[in-house]
Amino acid sequence: MSNHQSPFQPPKTDIPTSPPDSLSVIRQQEVIQLFKQIIEPTLKNDIISLGMVRNLRIVDDYVYLRLYIGSHQYELQTEIQNLLSSLTWCKKTYIQLCTIPGVRTAIAVSSGKGGVGKSTTSVNLAAALHIAGAKVGLLDADVYGPNVPQMLGLGKSEIKVIDTPNGKRFLPLESQGIKVMSVGLLAEPDHPLAWRGPVLHKIITQFINEVEWGELDYLLIDLPPGTGDAQITIIQESPICGVILVTTPQQVAISDVRRSIHMFRQVGLPVLGIIENMSYFLSKGGEETPIFGSGGGQKLAEELQTPLLGQIPIDPRICAGGDAGEPLTLTEPHSSVGEIFRQIAGALNTTFSPFA
Ligand code: ADP
Repeated sequence: MSNHQSPFQPPKTDIPTSPPDSLSVIRQQEVIQLFKQIIEPTLKNDIISLGMVRNLRIVDDYVYLRLYIGSHQYELQTEIQNLLSSLTWCKKTYIQLCTIPGVRTAIAVSSGKGGVGKSTTSVNLAAALHIAGAKVGLLDADVYGPNVPQMLGLGKSEIKVIDTPNGKRFLPLESQGIKVMSVGLLAEPDHPLAWRGPVLHKIITQFINEVEWGELDYLLIDLPPGTGDAQITIIQESPICGVILVTTPQQVAISDVRRSIHMFRQVGLPVLGIIENMSYFLSKGGEETPIFGSGGGQKLAEELQTPLLGQIPIDPRICAGGDAGEPLTLTEPHSSVGEIFRQIAGALNTTFSPFA
C-alpha cells in the first residue's frame, strides 16, 4: 500500500452506484414527451425546448423537477400538475419553482474570456431596453471583474439592506433608469474579490434570491467569463430564459467560446444569440475596417445554429462612456453603436413581448 496518502484524506472506498433503473428511464421519457405538449404562449415553444424544466427525476411513482419561470408564467405549474395527474403510475409530484420575485425575463450575458466587452455590452443593452420603455435591472455577477457600477457611475455607492415582509433584502441602486446590483459593491475598491467554493456559492445565491428588484421586464445578468464554479452556480440557481454570448472576431476560433456554449446546452439553457464586439473600426468617412478579422461571428453563429444578433464597431466613445459612467447608447442613442444596441433590444422585445 502506498504511504503517500495524507492522513487527513479519508480512505478511498468504492461506493457502488446503482445503474439507472430502466422503468425510471422509460417513465422519464414519457414525462418529457408529455411536457413537450405544453407550449409557453409568449415564446410559442414547448417548455422542454425552452429549458424551463431541469433536474427531472423519477423515483418509482414520484416525479421531481425544477421549473424555471418568469413572474408571468406561474400558470405553467398548474398545467404541469394537470398533465402529471393524467399518468396512472404517478402518485406524488414535487415541483420546485425557480423564479426571481417580480422579474419577468432574466437573460444572461456571457463570454468565453474576459476583456471582450461583455460588461460594456450588458450596460449598453440595458440602456437600449430602458430607452425602449422596459423596466430593466442589471445584476453584475462577474465576481472576477465587477465593473458595471463604474460603467454606470456608481463606483462608490453603498448597498442598503431593507426589511420586507419576506425578510431582509438588498435594495438595488439606480442609475439612469437602470436598477443595478453588483458583487463589486460588496468589495473594497482596488481589492480583488477572492471568494471561492461555498462562500462564492452563498454570495451568488443571495444575490439572485435576496434583491428587492420590484417589477422588472428584464433582468440582465452579467456572468463571469468562462465556465467555472461561479457560472454554473448562477445558471443553476436562476430562472434564466437564455444566454447572449459576447465575442470578438478573433476570439471565435478559440475553444473557450465553444466550451461555454457546450456548458449552457448541457444544462438545457438556450443560447439566444451571439453579439460580435469590436467587429470593425468605423472611420469618419464611414469606412469599415475589420481590425480583428471579419466573418468570425457569422461563422460561429452558423456553426452553432444561433442568430448573430449584432456586430458592434470599435468606437473610442464606448470606452470613454464606460469610464465616465454614461453608456454611449444613452448619451448618443442615434450613434451607430446606439442604433445597433437598440436594434438588438427591439429583437428581444419582439421575442419576449414585455409590453403585451
Ligand atoms: P469584459 O466585461 O468582457 O471583461 P469590458 O466590457 O470591461 O470587457 O471591456 C473591456 C474594455 O474594452 C473596456 O475598457 C471597454 O470600455 C472597452 N471596450 C469594449 N468594447 C468596446 C468597443 N466596441 N469599442 C471600444 N472600446 C470597447
